[in-house]
Amino acid sequence: MTKKDVDILIVGAGPVGLFTVFEAGLLGLKCHLIDNLDKIGGQCAELYPEKPIYDIPGVPFQTAQQHVDALIEQIKPFEYEISLNERVDSISEDSNEDNITRWRVATSDGQEFITKNIFIAAGAGSFEPRRPPNIENPDALMENGVSYAVQSKKRYENKDVIIFGGGDSALDWTVELADIAKSISLVHRRDAFRGAQHTEAQMRELVKQEKVNLLTPYQIHSIIGEDKVTGAELKNFDTKEIEEVAADELLFLFGLNKKLGPILDWELELNEKKISVNTENFQTNKDGIFAVGDINDYPGKLDLILCGFHETTLAVQEAYRRIHPGERVPFGYTTSNTKLQRKLGVAE
Ligand SMILES: Cc1cc2nc3c(=O)[nH]c(=O)nc-3n(C[C@H](O)[C@H](O)[C@H](O)COP(=O)(O)OP(=O)(O)OC[C@H]3O[C@@H](n4cnc5c(N)ncnc54)[C@H](O)[C@@H]3O)c2cc1C
Repeated sequence: MTKKDVDILIVGAGPVGLFTVFEAGLLGLKCHLIDNLDKIGGQCAELYPEKPIYDIPGVPFQTAQQHVDALIEQIKPFEYEISLNERVDSISEDSNEDNITRWRVATSDGQEFITKNIFIAAGAGSFEPRRPPNIENPDALMENGVSYAVQSKKRYENKDVIIFGGGDSALDWTVELADIAKSISLVHRRDAFRGAQHTEAQMRELVKQEKVNLLTPYQIHSIIGEDKVTGAELKNFDTKEIEEVAADELLFLFGLNKKLGPILDWELELNEKKISVNTENFQTNKDGIFAVGDINDYPGKLDLILCGFHETTLAVQEAYRRIHPGERVPFGYTTSNTKLQRKLGVAE
């Protein structure tokens, strides 16, 4: 297997990994993105593609998927490669010349890269939805009535839907799908919710209007259906009785198991489950290994997309210095970047 040389190897193709390609491209650096999901876009594409985002500067409203699509459009002028369904497994030192370390990166598919700059934009790590407790093989009916995230609202149109969970996602989707589903039941093991108060209030209003059937304190007991879900048995925590509720779709929103996975073996300084960085260039305790976006930690850190964009913009400057030691990092506004404008076809 040949080793590929790349200016920046990016672990994770979420919004921050994608924007890294843009900032690197402006400085003439080439990136290779690797993501263990089957799609580009990280949490936005996997967890909430149809939910609106309101706090991207200058973009009053965009669904999470539209945001990802816009980022993909924005990096079109630049050369980059992407490998999906592939996990970055190991990082080791390859060589050190003039005090600049070159890193060797190996993936689950056997690819090897040599690079001076690794950008870990791994969000919450490789994440997996929490499965319902006490249910044997809940994934057996995954395409046939069991889901752990809303990939497309269409799937729930005119369907009898049961949503399980007590956090933001369960509340948000109960409110969002109430308009289009034939019926919505929200099942939670207690009558208190961990999500945003205003969404809980919206949900309770829908219960009053009989648009949502709130079932507390209940828990899933079993999934009913052979080849396709036809309902669920629910256990009442108080009476211990089992009740049957008919349904076409069971949506389990119990949150995610965030698994740092291989990242734990890379000998990086961690604070709980996040990688510690400095705020000058978002480098970790290892030269040339940067952590940007939700995966990093520093005083005042907020897990917001716009914070990740700022972090990676500064980190890319340091990546440039490592590739062109002693050179001044070119700075210019995109408004006067004729090279970019030519690529976009808006300048001669
Ligand atoms: C329901 C919900 C609503 C939200 N709303 C907003 C909002 O309105 N505004 C806002 O700013 N933020 C919002 N967020 C947060 C926002 O989605 C995150 O801040 C953002 O996705 C972080 O981007 P990222 O690129 O750092 O990581 P992620 O989007 O998490 O992407 C990381 C990627 O890295 C991959 N990965 C991890 N480990 C490896 C590995 N070893 N090898 C290969 N790939 C790996 C993962 O598969 C993943 O695709 C919301 C989050 C949720 C869950």
